[in-house]
Amino acid sequence: MAGELMLIVEDNEKNRKLARDVLQFTGYRTIESETAEEGIRLAREQQPALILMDIQLPGMSGIEALGQLRADPRTSGIPVMAVTASAMTQDRQKIMAAGFDGYQSKPIAVKEFLRAVRELLDRGRGAGGPA
Ligand code: MN
Repeated sequence: MAGELMLIVEDNEKNRKLARDVLQFTGYRTIESETAEEGIRLAREQQPALILMDIQLPGMSGIEALGQLRADPRTSGIPVMAVTASAMTQDRQKIMAAGFDGYQSKPIAVKEFLRAVRELLDRGRGAGGPA
């Protein structure tokens, strides 16, 4: 299946553009927000197949946003992948403990990023967590 709708929540313009370009080139459709608050609103309205969530955002953090998405039946079934510059093991553990369905570090490695996106789309939510 191709053409799935992806929601990119990312406050850094360069990072947002890179994710958008890579996803669109691969055939996905994208919508974007610069804040968690706007991302949650878009997720409710547009029902993306996957959400790519930055952690460090102005206002609400990506971790708080995940909690709100999970608490709402309109968005609780959407897989959410954390995309963050926090590359330290401890941060990664904290992020996965928060309940994200996947994790990619920034700057994204295109091939690995796309592989992880595809895998998560195919697997969906809750069907066994990532390593
Ligand atoms: Mn950020």
